[in-house]
Amino acid sequence: MTDRDPTEIVDLLADLFAEQGGSEYLGEAVTQAEHMLQAAACAEAAGASSALIAAALLHDVGHLFKSDSAGEISGAELMAGTDNRHSHTGADWLGAWFPDAVTEPVRLHVAAKRYLCTVEPGYFDQLSEASVYTLSVQGGPMSQEEAAEFARGPYARDAVTLRRWDEAAKDPEADVPDFDHYRALLADLLIPLL
Ligand code: FE
Repeated sequence: MTDRDPTEIVDLLADLFAEQGGSEYLGEAVTQAEHMLQAAACAEAAGASSALIAAALLHDVGHLFKSDSAGEISGAELMAGTDNRHSHTGADWLGAWFPDAVTEPVRLHVAAKRYLCTVEPGYFDQLSEASVYTLSVQGGPMSQEEAAEFARGPYARDAVTLRRWDEAAKDPEADVPDFDHYRALLADLLIPLL
């Protein structure tokens, strides 16, 4: 078994944060990069596993791809009414390097919002205006049947936990560690090549 060079993907992620992360986060008062760094800081403060800290850090990486680079739809287009499926594009892309414990909470973090709107009284009311809007584009609250099926999934709990950090990570005043703080954690999580 040979390990691949972990600096390569970690550098690529750092570049994405630096180059694309400065854009607005879907109408919120923080940039994309600030938002993801705040989510990771919430995860670390909560004593989460390194995989879930990485998931929080990378949960919106699908928003960082330009619509022309991956053939995907940008965050701006999401706000214009087209679901960019950023949770899936992000998770699929990360899957080349990271295990399911990282990618699946990323994949499910939008579904977790739809789930919480159905099962938790009061959750919907504390969503930001932008998040309420994207909810409608992303399919709205789950049906009771969909919610029950979601809850049976092996990563449902992690996805719901990540979702709460996602909601909390929109503070324009927050002072949190930068991307470099997570380099070693990310490198340790990489799937070894056979
Ligand atoms: Fe987010």
